[in-house]
Amino acid sequence: MLKGKTALVTGSTSGIGLGIALTLARQGADIVLNGFGDHAGPKAEVEALGVKVGYHGADMSKPAEIEAMMAYIDQQFGGCDILVNNAGIQHVANVDEFPPEKWDAILAINLSSAFHTMRLALPGMKKKQWGRVINIASTHGLVASAGKSAYVAAKHGLVGLTKAAALETATLPVTVNAICPGWVLTPLVQKQIDARSEKDKLDPAEAKRQLLAEKQPSLQFTTPEELGALAVFLCSDAAVNVRGQAWAMDGGWTAQ
Ligand code: NAD
Repeated sequence: MLKGKTALVTGSTSGIGLGIALTLARQGADIVLNGFGDHAGPKAEVEALGVKVGYHGADMSKPAEIEAMMAYIDQQFGGCDILVNNAGIQHVANVDEFPPEKWDAILAINLSSAFHTMRLALPGMKKKQWGRVINIASTHGLVASAGKSAYVAAKHGLVGLTKAAALETATLPVTVNAICPGWVLTPLVQKQIDARSEKDKLDPAEAKRQLLAEKQPSLQFTTPEELGALAVFLCSDAAVNVRGQAWAMDGGWTAQ
C-alpha cells in the first residue's frame, strides 16, 4: 500500500518509533530512521523487510541538525511523504522543583522539533500532492497528570500544532493528525515503573500493575504494533478526511 513513499520516523531507534517504522515498512514504505543509541540493529531489522532504509542522527532539539536531516532525505530519498514526529523524552517533578533545562529540552524535543520537520516537509508534500503527517502526542496531550508539567504542556501544544496545520492543508491531499497513546511498555515507561518500584518498595510486577490500574482501565499496555496499525490507516486513502484529530489509543484512559 505504501510502496514508493518515504517515511521519516523521528526517535525510531527504540520503542514506539521503531514499531511504527517496522509497520510502515511492512506496507512497502522506504524508511528513514532517527534517534540515539544503537541504530545498526534497528536499521538491519527494517532492511530485512526489503525496503530502502536510511538513518540520520539529528538531535531533535537542534533546528540546524533537523534542517540537515531533511536535506539528506530530499537528496537521498526524493523527499519525505510520511512524517511521523515521534521523538520524545520525559522528566517527572513538580513545577516548583522542575529543572529549567529539562523544561527547555522537553519543549524542544517533544514540540518544537515537530514544527521544524513540518515546516520543512510540507512544501514537498504540497508539490507532490500527497502527504501524511502523524504527530505522536499522548493522552497527556488531552489530559494532565501531576509531576509532568513540561510533558503535558508540550503534548497539548503538539495537539494544537496538529489542528492548526490540518486547517492550513484542509483542501489538499495532505493530512495532519495526532495519535495519543496511553501507557506503552517502552524504555520511557520502564524508567517510571522502576522509579515507582524503588520509591514504594514494590516488586516490578506489582509496580507495573499499579501503574496501569491508576490510569488505563483496560489494564493492558498499548503496543507499538497497534500504534503502527493506526498509523497505516491514517496513511490510507480511506483516511483522507481524517484531519486535525487527536486519536487516542489508550485503553479507556481519557474516557473516564
Ligand atoms: P523511547 O524512550 O523508547 O524512545 C524515544 C526515542 O526518541 C528513542 O529512539 C530516542 O533515541 C529518541 N530521542 C530522544 N531524544 C532525542 C533527541 N534529542 N533527538 C533525536 N532522537 C531522540 O520512548 P517511547 O515510549 O517509544 O516514546 C516515543 C514517543 O511516544 C514519545 O514522543 C513519547 O512521548 C510518546 N508516548 C509514549 C508513551 C508510552 O507509554 N511509552 C505514551 C504516550 C506517548
